[in-house]
Amino acid sequence: MADHQGGFGTRCVHAGQHPDPTTGAIMTPVFLSSTYVQASPGVFKDGYDYSRSKNPTRTALEENLASLEGGRHGLCFSSGLGAMDCVLHQLRAGDHVVLSDDVYGGSFRLIDKVFRHAGLECTRVDMTSLPQVQSALRPRTRLVWLETPSNPMLKVLDIRGVRRIVDDAARGMAPHGLSDPALGPLGAPLTRPIFVVDNTFASPALQNPLAMGADVVLHSCTKYIGGHSDLVAGALVTNDDGLAARLRFAQNAAGAVPGAFDCFLMLRSTKTLHVRMQRHCENAAAVARFLSQHPRIERVIYPGLESHPQHTLAKAQMRGFGGMISCVVTGGLDASRKVLERVRLFSLAESLGGVESLIEHPAIMTHSSIPAEARRALGIDDGLIRLSVGIEEQADLIGDLDNALG
Ligand SMILES: *Cc1c(COP(=O)(O)O)cnc(C)c1O
Repeated sequence: MADHQGGFGTRCVHAGQHPDPTTGAIMTPVFLSSTYVQASPGVFKDGYDYSRSKNPTRTALEENLASLEGGRHGLCFSSGLGAMDCVLHQLRAGDHVVLSDDVYGGSFRLIDKVFRHAGLECTRVDMTSLPQVQSALRPRTRLVWLETPSNPMLKVLDIRGVRRIVDDAARGMAPHGLSDPALGPLGAPLTRPIFVVDNTFASPALQNPLAMGADVVLHSCTKYIGGHSDLVAGALVTNDDGLAARLRFAQNAAGAVPGAFDCFLMLRSTKTLHVRMQRHCENAAAVARFLSQHPRIERVIYPGLESHPQHTLAKAQMRGFGGMISCVVTGGLDASRKVLERVRLFSLAESLGGVESLIEHPAIMTHSSIPAEARRALGIDDGLIRLSVGIEEQADLIGDLDNALG
């Protein structure tokens, strides 16, 4: 299915894409068709009967993303949370989820405010400590979910280490139940935990969790994969055929699929993913160095700095350190607010991963829904600001921050 020919950059440009057989068009056409003509009732080509189930533009994107993550099966969604929702539909009442403590706020909200009412239980732990992961697991744990690097503290979590702990806990448990023909692929309960890594911050260019033991990789394609701040979308990739069938069933049954035009935009975006990520990394490294020498900055958090608590782990499991930086401005809320008001090139906005540089204040903006005490426990200080470093000229980015801090 997925196309694994060539190195990463080659697969960015080509994987899943073939010249259109009728015209030779080199770009995958945007198939804006909701339905497909059948030769005889129930007789149609390659599974194409209705575009919620399957659409050729989406198929090309799904194969492209599967290839970039080194997986056999890719599934695309209308948002990152739509992708997470599809995973959560694999669980049933009474199942338990172990979640890293600083996952994306919307991911926690979906479990805490939606699936908790459907009977899911959830434990959040600081996954930089593997013993804490181990002691959080229960006999009914059916999902282990982490995000690395995390948001906004950029904690780097040990994917291989968590895999070992999940394997120890699952020793003796049956492989995932095959589909119950009477109920469809979701009929059988999960028999062991699924291990999911949200790879949004690293992107497939810097880290491939499937190769380190994840069962499923999730992306908010809204961020680096889309890369141009012009769409909202999500994706799942897996190598597990049984799980892929269950996920595909839920994707169609729940229906949070992206439109063909958004799929086309993403195919355009992934062609430059390797080039963009290289520049994001170079620029962020330079900005992190500048900030760590600035007298108005108390602390810089960037996995590429030796001062980062998991720098060694980041070197071992990532090919680059990414475009996200967090830092604490001396003087708390007032001082950080001034910096955010004074920047000219960095735009004050939520979200991340686009070609343009963004800056934000987690305590007031992206993480304001977390109670102040819990925020402090996570290290989200009132002076903390988060930068999504874009691909502009390094000197201009540093000049802008120098001015704003001045
Ligand atoms: C944005 C984000 C999500 C949610 O994705 P949407 O596309 O906004 O639904 C999930 N995880 C991480 C790490 C994110 O940054």
